[in-house]
Amino acid sequence: MHRTALVTLRHTATMSVRSQPSSNMAAFREILSKSKHVAVLSGAGVSAESGIPTFRGSGGFWRTYQAQDLATPGAFARDPSLVWEFYHYRRELVLTKEPNKAHFALAKFERDLELSGRKLSLITQNIDGLHQRAGSQKVIELHGSLFKTRCMSCGEVAENRNSPICPALAGKGAPDPQATAVQIPKTDLPQCHCGGLLRPHVVWFGEALDTAVLNEAEAALESCDICLVIGTSSVVYPAAMFAPTVARRGVPVAEFNLEKTPETYNFQFHFEGPSGTTVPEALGV
Ligand SMILES: [Zn+2]
Repeated sequence: MHRTALVTLRHTATMSVRSQPSSNMAAFREILSKSKHVAVLSGAGVSAESGIPTFRGSGGFWRTYQAQDLATPGAFARDPSLVWEFYHYRRELVLTKEPNKAHFALAKFERDLELSGRKLSLITQNIDGLHQRAGSQKVIELHGSLFKTRCMSCGEVAENRNSPICPALAGKGAPDPQATAVQIPKTDLPQCHCGGLLRPHVVWFGEALDTAVLNEAEAALESCDICLVIGTSSVVYPAAMFAPTVARRGVPVAEFNLEKTPETYNFQFHFEGPSGTTVPEALGV
């Protein structure tokens, strides 16, 4: 009862601020030039422009599976070999791709801001590490990284860019629907120095975000004076809450996306098109 009332209240509050967002780039850049702390939230759309698939939605299959079938603790417990084949494929695929103009623009913008004593907080839902490869120094990875592992026994998190990640996965992970699972024994899957089984350090469906990472993201969003939402439809929680919360604080939010999203009308600016085009123009880099 209480919960329903709260949801209704928030819905009403959201409705009341709806208006057409501006796509005036000059007006946006004027506000951006005066900001001291810029928060950026980037999502799958930025990666998609580098050719990185999400394995979600129509056509988003690996073999006969989608991400939500394999990116779960249950799937890993049942069949760690199959899940590792999927992640091995994703890691190897990302290594063949390059950061795009949006990634590079954000990296340069971070350096430019620092030189003028200002600050960028880059929060990403992406797990491909392309922001770092483009030169971004400080990236808050909400959903973890394809290139980090976590030990199922001792919990140690470690960077891992080995290709392949272990000898048994070499040449495995073919994505076509006819490919058969290789059923690698646990002892031949990626192992920790403690002897435990390693898993990808990514947040799977049904798992909570890392508290420290979430706190860092929330702190950035609470102190920023402008927020850019790039290539995300803002439907994945809790990230979906971030930008609307910032907007309700009265801080300008600019959305960069291929299309309008459920939140578009709560934001001050909306720039439609590929982020590789709109983001460099908006940042003036
Ligand atoms: Zn361990």
